Parts: sequence; C-alpha cells; structure tokens
Amino acid sequence: MKKNPIIIMAAMDVEADFLIEKLENMTCVDVEKYQFFEGTIENYPVVICRCYVGTINATIATYIAIQKYHPIAVISQGTAGAHGKNIHIGDLVIGQKCVNIVSAKTPRKKEGEGSNSLEWNLLKFISGQEDRLEYQLGNKHLIEFAKKVPYTDGKIHFGTLGSGDIWNQETDKILWLHQNYGTLCEDMESIAIYTVANRFKIPVLGIRVISNNEILGESYIRTTGLKSQEFCYQFILEILKDASA
Ligand code: SAH
Repeated sequence: MKKNPIIIMAAMDVEADFLIEKLENMTCVDVEKYQFFEGTIENYPVVICRCYVGTINATIATYIAIQKYHPIAVISQGTAGAHGKNIHIGDLVIGQKCVNIVSAKTPRKKEGEGSNSLEWNLLKFISGQEDRLEYQLGNKHLIEFAKKVPYTDGKIHFGTLGSGDIWNQETDKILWLHQNYGTLCEDMESIAIYTVANRFKIPVLGIRVISNNEILGESYIRTTGLKSQEFCYQFILEILKDASA
C-alpha cells in the first residue's frame, strides 16, 4: 500500500531548493500556481510544496496538499523575523502554538483621535459566538521529534509563532506582541498552515529560522532559509527512524 507522505510547505525558493535536491525519484506536479515536488527520502514519500508568500497562498496550497495527499504531517518551514531581544539570525523557533497577529479589534475612536495599534486586541472572529483570542496548536509528537534534532547554527527556542500578512518593523509593536501574546517570531504562512491542518486533524508543526531581528537591527538575510531546510531534513530522518524502529 502506498504510504501517506510528509508534506513540507515552503513559500520561497530559498526555503525549498535544498529539500527538493534531497528528494529521490523526484517529479513535479503543478496545481494552479503551486508546485508539489513529490519524491522519497530514505524510501519514505515526502512532498515539498512551493506555496509562495502569504496566508492566502498558504491556505490554498495547504488545502490542496491535504486533499491530494492525505499526509501524516504538515510542516510549516522557512524564515521569520524575531520578536525577542535574545533571538538572533540563525536561531530556530519551533511553534508549540501559533497566533494570528493581524486579526484584531480596535478600540472606538472619534474623528481626529488617530490610530494606535498598541491598543488593539488580537481576536479570532467567530460567527454566533463571543470573539476570542485563539492559539492554533502544534502537534506534541512532532515537537518531541524536533527536540531530538541537533542544531549548531544557533539556539532553538520552543514557543509561539506570530503570523499574518504583515512585516512589522516598529520596535514597540514587536515588543508588544512578544509581551502580550508571547510571540517569539513572525512569518506570513504559519497561521494558515496550522489552521487548515488542524481543521482536517492533520498533525502540524512550524520550524522557522530567524532571518531578521528588526528590534536589534539585524537586517533580513533571505538565504538563512537554507538552515530551516537542513534542520527539517534531519527532523524527517528522526521521524523515519522512529517509524522503522
Ligand atoms: N520579497 C522578499 C520578502 C518576501 S516576504 C524575498 O523574496 O525575500 C518574507 C517571507 O519571509 C515570508 O514568506 C515570511 O513568511 C518570511 N518572513 C521573514 N521575515 C519576516 C518578518 N520579519 N515578518 C514577516 N514575515 C517574514
């Protein structure tokens, strides 16, 4: 019987190329504008999905991937901006949780009273129910596998991923997210990938490498995307080791 694959989501070339190279017997299937690189690693099926940037792309691509492949796990992998003063370029963040950092309700203000996003409340809007803050959870078993993978290019932080279609460069806003919502970093795909995977009860985990820390003035290095792929490759081997035991 054909095994259900592990799906690795990657928005950008620098987050996908290394893993695609690692696939044996690779073929590429295009669905709409997304590419699904199918192959095997150690004889186990793995699909790298090039989903492009942002939550709308990631939602569509994750939905297609789940319907098409019925995966055993979906990994949200790639770069992210740091939300802490002790989190540097090259560090990894493993997403025990994920929160939407652009889904918000503002306080009422009259004409001329301006706008201040530090007064906003992050909320998920739910039809017919009280709107409330919601964290999407990463899968516990996948987190345990991630803990076993060695990493020498920086520290590994376990915690909350912030995610949404925004690139924050305001220090006070970044620290506000960190202090009020516990975010360790931000990216533009994880909230979509977590939400879709959890909706279909597919185990999901985010593995994100820090490519910039705007509060420390560590500017964006997009090629750090390689490091999350290298970690992800070892992470897949760790899962397969357990499966064959
Ligand atoms: N055009 C640029 C940037 C693309 S958007 C490029 O091609 O390199 C940035 C991508 O990196 C998104 O997929 C997002 O998930 C991630 N990312 C890295 N740092 C980020 C930050 N500080 N805020 C939001 N997303 C970030």
